[in-house]
Amino acid sequence: MNQTTRTYDVIVIGAGPVGENVAERARAAGLSTVIVERELLGGECSFWACDPSKALLRPVVARADARRIPGLGQAVGGPLDVEAVLAHRDKMSSYWKDEDQADWLNSVSVDLIRGHGRLTGPKQVSVQTPDGELIALTARHAVAVSTGTRAALPPIPGLDTVRPWTSREATSAAEVPKRLAVVGGGVVAVEMATAWQALGSQVTMLVLENTLLQRMEPFAGELVTDGLREAGVDIRFNTTVTSLAREGGEVQITLADGRQLAADEILLATGRAPNTWDLGLETIGLTPGDWLKVDDTFQVTDVADGWFYAVGDVNHRALMTHQGKYQARIAGTVIGARAKKQPIDDAPWGAHAATADHAAVPQVVFTTPEIASVGLTTHEAARSGRRIKVVDYNLAHIAGAHQYGQDYRGHARMLIDLDRDTVLGVTFAGPGVGELVHSATIAVAGQVPLDRLWHAVPAFPTLGEIWLRLLETHRG
Ligand SMILES: Cc1cc2nc3c(=O)[nH]c(=O)nc-3n(C[C@H](O)[C@H](O)[C@H](O)COP(=O)(O)OP(=O)(O)OC[C@H]3O[C@@H](n4cnc5c(N)ncnc54)[C@H](O)[C@@H]3O)c2cc1C
Repeated sequence: MNQTTRTYDVIVIGAGPVGENVAERARAAGLSTVIVERELLGGECSFWACDPSKALLRPVVARADARRIPGLGQAVGGPLDVEAVLAHRDKMSSYWKDEDQADWLNSVSVDLIRGHGRLTGPKQVSVQTPDGELIALTARHAVAVSTGTRAALPPIPGLDTVRPWTSREATSAAEVPKRLAVVGGGVVAVEMATAWQALGSQVTMLVLENTLLQRMEPFAGELVTDGLREAGVDIRFNTTVTSLAREGGEVQITLADGRQLAADEILLATGRAPNTWDLGLETIGLTPGDWLKVDDTFQVTDVADGWFYAVGDVNHRALMTHQGKYQARIAGTVIGARAKKQPIDDAPWGAHAATADHAAVPQVVFTTPEIASVGLTTHEAARSGRRIKVVDYNLAHIAGAHQYGQDYRGHARMLIDLDRDTVLGVTFAGPGVGELVHSATIAVAGQVPLDRLWHAVPAFPTLGEIWLRLLETHRG
């Protein structure tokens, strides 16, 4: 086997959205940088997660909105054009090709090595290329791991015989299964149930818990449950799958209460596991398969000398692309600053600390209705021991909602930190609320005093009026 050796200031393993941004920021700080990728540049997000899933969901959400508008609803009464939706999804996934992203890396002067990267010791990485070459890399300053996650599959007897869908198949399938069973009740489960039911599958959701979207405010899960049921999805709560088998092309699903269910495909949306199994973590004293615990500058806390960083999904702080890219901007910048021995500003909200990961992570769930949230939930705020006030408002009662569509249903909740008089968290549920989330993020991350927020006047008649109503409710 051929072996070559190279030295860079910074080595990044994993070229998903996060790794790409760590590399770009490190390079912008003047450091020579190489990135290692074993599959496609752009990672899970571009090809099997955010982009394809939102391309599948956009027509579903737009049609639901249009159906609520008098004079337009009739025109969109029919089914979706499945072929066109799938073709659009393929386009939005760049046909699973990454030349554009390779060109971009080249344009920002980051070197690319295609292959599987493994640590072989402190600041040492070995890359096995597809044609069998071994490239030994040494980092002068830092190695950053952004290897992301894959679907975590529960140990259900018979699982290996049924070829289950994971998020990858659910976002890239070329045909619509007649019957799709979805195991799980989190974000991936509800989004994919929404998409495939609208594309023509009869979806059955098998949910271990007694609610959907368990980590969010309870009204979010309740409204999404209503929306899915109205679309025809069969949702079964408190349900455990005990065994699986594929017989005559069908998946036979046995439940804990002895009942059986048949489906053409089964999607397991049961969480994520870090891509750290085959990463050489044992060579630096860490355990393969573990999440990588980091401080607010993304140095891995259990590794000495500060050369090892973990950024994005793999550190388990906030498993979303936008938050991972925020982490990447900070990690790349702090790696550059440390290399140049510049002062580090890692105090809360400093240039080199990802404080928003703890206080202001925005998320949109693209269902009908949409859910948008940022900051703490009531449950989290109560657990944090803060003195809080919960302010609720029925979104259907604002003029903007009347204009948005008939029979608008929705709800909003704002959590107030009574000691600081600022907003700790906001959750919106309703059609069109996804675009409201950044206003809430600014209020939470900016710690805008409520007295000043009172002067942020929402335009009439938009959904943004919810801010005025929440503040009025708070003031009594
Ligand atoms: C169905 C679904 C929908 C989603 N929708 C959204 C959404 O709408 N918005 C949002 O913000 N987030 C969404 N997410 C989450 C989002 O996909 C992730 O947060 C994001 O992809 C994380 O980026 P990352 O760069 O950390 O990891 P990844 O995107 O997983 O990239 C990691 C990269 O590392 C590579 N790699 C791994 N190990 C090695 C190795 N040893 N050597 C070389 N390369 C390696 C992989 O091949 C991969 O390319 C969704 C997730 C799913 C599953």
